[in-house]
Amino acid sequence: MKHIGAAELSSVIRAVSGRIGVESANLNRLDAALGDGDHGRAVGGAFAFAADEIGALPEPTIGDIWRTTAKALLNRMGGASGALFGVFFLRGVPLLRGEDALGKAEMGALLQSGLAGVKARGKANIGDKTMVDALEPAVAAFLEAEDFGSAWSGAALAARQGAASTRDLVARQGRAKYLGERGIGHIDPGATTVALIFEAIDEWWGMNAE
Ligand code: ADP
Ligand code: MG
Repeated sequence: MKHIGAAELSSVIRAVSGRIGVESANLNRLDAALGDGDHGRAVGGAFAFAADEIGALPEPTIGDIWRTTAKALLNRMGGASGALFGVFFLRGVPLLRGEDALGKAEMGALLQSGLAGVKARGKANIGDKTMVDALEPAVAAFLEAEDFGSAWSGAALAARQGAASTRDLVARQGRAKYLGERGIGHIDPGATTVALIFEAIDEWWGMNAE
C-alpha cells in the first residue's frame, strides 16, 4: 500500500489503542519503578478514548482523526506524557489541511513535526532516559527507509532498541530524574509506549496493507 486514507488511519489508531490496552499493567509496572505507577492507565485510557471519539465522527478526514487524537490525549492522559503525546499529534494538524491520503513522505513529515514538538515541549534529548530515546531513532529509521511498509518495520525495531537503551541510563528529565542512579536497571515507560505504538502499526501494516 502506498497511501492510507481516513478509514485506514482510524483502524491504525484502534490497533494502537488495543496494543497499549493489553500492555497497560506492564506499563504501570515500569512506571512504578521509575515514577508514580500511572503511565499504563494514563496512555491506555487516553488512546481508548481517542479511538472511541474517532469512531463517533461522521465521515472524518485524516485531519479530523489526527486532531481528535491530539485533543483526546491532551485532555485525558494527564501527567508529563499527556502533554507530550498530545503535542506530538497537535503539531501535525496544520500539515494535514486538505489532505485525503497519506503517503510515506507525508507520514514522515508528520512524525518529524511531532518529534520536534515533543523535544521543544519536554526539552529532552537522546540519552536523557525518556520517550525521546525511542522516538528520535524511530523517526530517523522511518525517514531513511525506501518504502512505507519497511519504514514501519525499521521504525519499530529502532524504537524497541531505543527503549531498551534507557535501562542503563540515569534520567535527566521527568519524575525518574529524582531517583538519580537508583533508576539504572529500569526501562523507561514512555519509551516503551513509543515502541509499542510503532510495533502495533507495523503489525497492522503486515496484516492490512502489504
Ligand atoms: P508522569 O511522569 O507525569 O506520571 P507518565 O507516567 O504518564 O507521566 O509518563 C512518564 C513518561 O513521560 C516517562 O517515562 C518519559 O518517557 C516521559 N517524559 C517525562 N518527562 C519528559 C520530558 N521532559 N521529555 C520527554 N519525555 C518525558
Ligand atoms: Mg507516571
